Amino acid sequence: GITGQKGWGRQWRDPEPKPHYDIVIVGGGLHGLATAYYLAANHGLKNIAVLEKGWLGGGNAGRNTTIVRSNYARPGNREFYEHSLKLWENLSHELNYNVMFSQRSHIALLHSPGAIDAAARNYNTMRMTGTPDAEIWDLAALKRAVPHLNYSDTARFPIMGAAVQKRAGTARHDAVAWGYARGADAHGVDILQQCEVQGIARDGDSVSTLETSRGSIRAGKVAFAVAGNTSRLWNMAGLGKLPIESHKLQAFVSEPLKPLLDQVVVFGIGGAHFYMSQSDKGGMVFGGDLDWYKSYAQRGNLPIVQDVSEAAMSILPCLGRVKLLRHWSGLVDMSMDGTHFICKTPLANLYLNAGWNYGGFKATPASGWYFADLIANDRPHDRIRNYDLKRFERGLQIDERGAGPDPK
Ligand code: FAD
Repeated sequence: GITGQKGWGRQWRDPEPKPHYDIVIVGGGLHGLATAYYLAANHGLKNIAVLEKGWLGGGNAGRNTTIVRSNYARPGNREFYEHSLKLWENLSHELNYNVMFSQRSHIALLHSPGAIDAAARNYNTMRMTGTPDAEIWDLAALKRAVPHLNYSDTARFPIMGAAVQKRAGTARHDAVAWGYARGADAHGVDILQQCEVQGIARDGDSVSTLETSRGSIRAGKVAFAVAGNTSRLWNMAGLGKLPIESHKLQAFVSEPLKPLLDQVVVFGIGGAHFYMSQSDKGGMVFGGDLDWYKSYAQRGNLPIVQDVSEAAMSILPCLGRVKLLRHWSGLVDMSMDGTHFICKTPLANLYLNAGWNYGGFKATPASGWYFADLIANDRPHDRIRNYDLKRFERGLQIDERGAGPDPK
């Protein structure tokens, strides 16, 4: 800006597709870009491409509400998300790109003695297994930190306390996509935008060629990281059904306000499903539940607008006259137990990263890190061994709703 934008170069190259790559990642969202970056940076691999049908970050990557936390309690999940949070803490340095990670605290409101007990169990588990910043606050502590919530005894769900993770917070989602893209490109990864995979040719039990809107591309290994479009790609590969449904999730932003809310506040345990934070521009960023019908459309419906606005008013009544600026929707890949998949598939050279439900933003660094490890070494790291498609056959459900002890 100060230089009048003189001498600004491209952040990443815009190459023509090559006829063959050793590794092709389908999907230029956060998970695809992070995977490409770690394949090159951690494993020294070359001849990699990321294929994106639109523009980088045009999917859920640029549509989410940017909450990052690691308050998961199930074995496997807590270590995975804590690893992710530690990667977040160094991400701006790692990428030399300011991802604006703001550890402003995640405050999940508690509305019943049962909710307090359940949260205490989860947060104690976190403390005992390597996540030291899990706290249960009583009402007095909560009122000191966020004095302007609706603390009325006559509220439909009176507030009794909160479960708090102080290292949690928000980040700038576009910057994360751009930072990983620039980092991957600097390691030689070809990032191909406007390159939609439209067909998949197989050679027996392997993928041989991807038919794209920019021509045929042969691939040694293929990795899907297409979030809500996973079932479409899965069908193109001639595979059966997946335990994933595509649903719409909306988000909202208000007109800019003066500083009003310093933390992420969630109204979700035993009450409604609502969460809110304030962006650096001052907009109140918030969201709630799914639209609750399956769709590939990236737009939402009005009943959720009403639902979310009512929840906002019940928690922060001072928002009553604030104008809504925009609302939009993303296409989320909901798995049957709420937990994701990072795994091999029935095809020898096809790898799957999907099932992120409401919560794949926070998972981005660890997801890319472990997916790259899987693709590079052709075996799952111990930490992701249960994130496979066969866990249901083994009777294992990692039942954490993709949302931890509390949503988002
Ligand atoms: P995407 O960005 O959707 O990437 C997939 C890419 O694949 C897309 O760019 C798409 O164009 C591309 N693609 C699809 N088909 C093809 C094809 N045939 N050929 C080539 N490319 C293709 N998570 C959190 O942790 N915290 C939150 O606060 C949070 N809030 C959310 C709020 C909303 C409204 C939504 C929608 C999601 C939210 N999430 C949140 C979830 C998170 O955004 C997603 O789980 C995560 O972004 C998914 O991974 P991705 O970025 O790789 O997906």
